[in-house]
Amino acid sequence: MARVVVVGGGYGGVTVAKGLDPFAEVVLVEQKDEFVHHAAALRAAVDEVWQHTIFMPYTNLLKNGSFVQGTVSRVEGTTVHVFGREPIEADYVVLATGSSYPFPAKYSSSRAQVAKARLDQLHANLRDAKSVLLVGGGTVGIEFTGELASSFPDLEITIVERESDILSTPGYSEELRSEIRSQLEELGVRIITGTQLAYLPPHNVGELGHFVVHTTSGEAVEADTWFQCHGARPNSGYLAGTEYEARLHPNGTIRVNANLQVVGSDRVYAVGDLTDVRESKRADAARQQARVVMANICAQIDGGEATHVYHPTKEWVILPLGPTMGASQLLDADGNSRVIGAEQTAEIKGTDLMVSVIRAQLNLP
Ligand SMILES: Cc1cc2nc3c(=O)[nH]c(=O)nc-3n(C[C@H](O)[C@H](O)[C@H](O)COP(=O)(O)OP(=O)(O)OC[C@H]3O[C@@H](n4cnc5c(N)ncnc54)[C@H](O)[C@@H]3O)c2cc1C
Repeated sequence: MARVVVVGGGYGGVTVAKGLDPFAEVVLVEQKDEFVHHAAALRAAVDEVWQHTIFMPYTNLLKNGSFVQGTVSRVEGTTVHVFGREPIEADYVVLATGSSYPFPAKYSSSRAQVAKARLDQLHANLRDAKSVLLVGGGTVGIEFTGELASSFPDLEITIVERESDILSTPGYSEELRSEIRSQLEELGVRIITGTQLAYLPPHNVGELGHFVVHTTSGEAVEADTWFQCHGARPNSGYLAGTEYEARLHPNGTIRVNANLQVVGSDRVYAVGDLTDVRESKRADAARQQARVVMANICAQIDGGEATHVYHPTKEWVILPLGPTMGASQLLDADGNSRVIGAEQTAEIKGTDLMVSVIRAQLNLP
């Protein structure tokens, strides 16, 4: 049986591993001891119940294959090196190591207990804070604002966004921006755009401690705590010094062809945030890419060619502002964008944050 080693057990890696489990000997290598459902991490940052909901065990995922908890130190050809273990020889490798993001959107610790302890401290700090500064008005900054405003209605929230408007990702419509802006106004959020902080606050993110900072245009912002809501970085450091280094872009993403093979490699694929696919990075895209990779590896196992192609979609986003507010930009069957408001956004994502979908994928009750 062909052996497929999947490096990284996020949304993309889990989809590939589960999909190939009946057809190949799958080894999933993941540094974390539990799956983290990042799409709900900002709710977990403000809510103690959700703090437990977003961590899910890998135990039920694979029926035939194996889960290895470990950190991949390098990949040479199709040999995967894991710290403290024998190298794993593979017939096919799928790189799915995703990206890192500042706390509380993602966690640096590989132990769920450590991440939960940090969340406990964050909840205590937020209960005592009267004001908060969010640096970055993209999807993470906006979604976090909604969660903070919903759980702490008296909290004064300021967003500083470097671009001339919030949600500056190309492809987001003016209708979406304007709907979100008016809901933020309703929540009393102060939004400063077109400028950036002249210097960072004197405390770590999420720590409690009153401070005043200034923007480069001279505006003062006073707050009790702050968060960095920008700065996703692809996790590709383990490819430095290997033959794959030449296929990394300066921003850390890896070059893939339309079949999602790492360029120049027949049997090494990549999916998700790690890739240089030209569309915004989403769990949903990672899962769709995983399906293309599964089809290509199955074809190769059967002696055929990798002919399945991934087609990036137009921009779409579901943007809850807490459990009951928000707006979304969706695509209809013809690929045209339309914006929906709070009620439908809450139905699609705001209430459940897609937990049931992810639990089902991990074969959890
Ligand atoms: C706050 C927030 C909310 C979001 N909401 C949504 C949403 O609603 N909908 C949506 O579609 N997208 C959402 N996204 C984006 C989505 O989370 C990412 O696009 C998605 O996580 C990418 O999946 P991935 O499988 O590529 O990587 P990841 O989910 O980042 O997983 C990569 C995995 O690889 C592991 N890993 C890394 N390096 C190594 C190594 N050397 N050895 C072993 N394991 C390693 C990591 O521990 C991690 O588990 C959100 C992101 C954030 C931060």
